[in-house]
Amino acid sequence: MNRAILIPVGDELLSGNVVDTNSGWIAHQLDLIGIPVSRIYTVPDDFNSLLEILKEAEEKAEIVIITGGLGPTKDDVTKSVLAHWSHSQLKEDLPTLSRIQAYFKARGKEVNELNAAQAIVPDKAEVLPNHLGTAPGLWIPSSRGCVVSLPGVPFEMKDLMIQEVLPRFRKNYAGALWLEHTLLTLGIPESELALHLKPIEDVLPPEVKIAYLPQPGLVKVKLRIQAEANQKETGIILLHQQIEKIKQRLGGSVAGEGDETPEGIIHTLLLSSNQTLATAESCTGGALASSLLGIPGASAWFLGGMIPYQNRRKNEWLGVENDLFHTVGAVSEPVAKQMAEGIRQRTGSTYGIGITGIAGPGGATPEKPVGTVWISLASPDETITECYLFERDRQRNIRRTCLAAIDMLRKKHLGLWGRGRFD
Ligand code: ATP
Ligand code: MG
Repeated sequence: MNRAILIPVGDELLSGNVVDTNSGWIAHQLDLIGIPVSRIYTVPDDFNSLLEILKEAEEKAEIVIITGGLGPTKDDVTKSVLAHWSHSQLKEDLPTLSRIQAYFKARGKEVNELNAAQAIVPDKAEVLPNHLGTAPGLWIPSSRGCVVSLPGVPFEMKDLMIQEVLPRFRKNYAGALWLEHTLLTLGIPESELALHLKPIEDVLPPEVKIAYLPQPGLVKVKLRIQAEANQKETGIILLHQQIEKIKQRLGGSVAGEGDETPEGIIHTLLLSSNQTLATAESCTGGALASSLLGIPGASAWFLGGMIPYQNRRKNEWLGVENDLFHTVGAVSEPVAKQMAEGIRQRTGSTYGIGITGIAGPGGATPEKPVGTVWISLASPDETITECYLFERDRQRNIRRTCLAAIDMLRKKHLGLWGRGRFD
C-alpha cells in the first residue's frame, strides 16, 4: 500500500545546486508516526512535469506532500498546477494577505505585487498559515486522502509541518508508531562498538531494531521498536530495558542520549558545576570554540579562545618556549601542553585546551603524517595530553579533533579519563 509520496519541486534540486534535505526530514517525521513514504519524485519547475507526477501520486497514495515552487515568481508553478488539478479558481485569501502585509510592515518594508500575489490560492485549498514567511501552506482533499503543499524554505516547511500538518496526520492517518531512543558515543569506531555490543544484539527481542549511525568522530546507536497506538506504554518499557543493557555494556563511552549533542553535553556539565573553559587552537582554526559557541548561553562558562597559528604567536601569546619549535616541533606534546596551560593561566579558567596538529593536505613529515594532532587539557589537578592520528581529509580532521577535545574534557570532568574505553 502506498501511504505517502513526496514531491520536492525545483530545478535547483535536479541540477545538484541544492540538496533535497526537506524530503529526508519529512520522511523521518512520517515514519515515526507509522506513515511510510513509498516514493520521492523530484520534479523541475515545470507545469506539465509537476501535473503529471501529481496525478500519478494522488492516485497511488493517501498522502501527497509537495515542497517548493510556491513562491511568487514565474518559475514557481505549484499553485497553478494545484488549481488545475483540483478544478479550483484562484482567489485572494484575505487572512493571508493581512499576514503578508503585517510581515512586511514589521520589517519596515512595502508589500509589492509579487509578495501580495502569495495570498492568491486555489479556492478548494484550505490555507495553512505560515508564521515564518510569506508563502502559505495548502491542504487539498484528494480521492484517497489529501495533497499538501508546503514552501521550499526548510525552516518554514518544518514549522508548518510541526504546527499544522503533523497534528492532522496523527489524528487521521497514524499507523503503528516507531518508538526510538538514541545513545551518543564519542571516539569509538562503529565496527568496534558493534563487536562489543554483539552479545546484546544477538539476544535482542525480535521487535527491537538496532542501527549504528556514524559521523566523523561519533557514532549514534539507535534502538527502535514499532508499537500499535494502544501498546505504547509496553513498547516504551521494553525499549528502555534494552537501552539500559546497552548503556551498561558501553559504560563511559556513552556521552549522551536522545537529542543531546557533544557541545550541549559540555554546556550542561560546565554550567551545572560552575566551571569554565578557554581554548587555544592552532590546526582547528577556532572550530572548537565556534562549535561550543553554537550553544546559546555558552558565555556562562566559555571565557575565550585564541588561534595562535604561527609559532611566534604561540610564544608571544601563550608563553610556549621558542626552543621547542626547533627541537620537537610545533606539532608535539610539550607545545600542546604549554598552549593548554598558557591559555588556562592567562584567562583564569578551570580548564584550558591546547590543540596543535597537521590538518592537511600539506605540512606532513614522515614522522608526522597528515592527521597527527596533539590535544592537551589543563585542569586544576593535572594536564593530560594525547596524540591522535586521524585521516587525510582536512575538514574531517578538524571535526574529529573538536570531538576528541570535547571527549577529553567530558571524561576528565567526570573522572572517566584513563579508564578503559567501555568502563
Ligand atoms: P518562497 O516563497 O521563498 O519562494 P518556495 O515555496 O517558492 O518559497 P522555493 O523557491 O522552491 O520555495 O525554494 C525556496 C528556498 O528553499 C530555496 O533556497 C531552495 O533552494 C530551498 N529549497 C527548496 N526545496 C528544498 C528542498 N527540498 N530541500 C532543501 N532546500 C530546499
Ligand atoms: Mg523553487
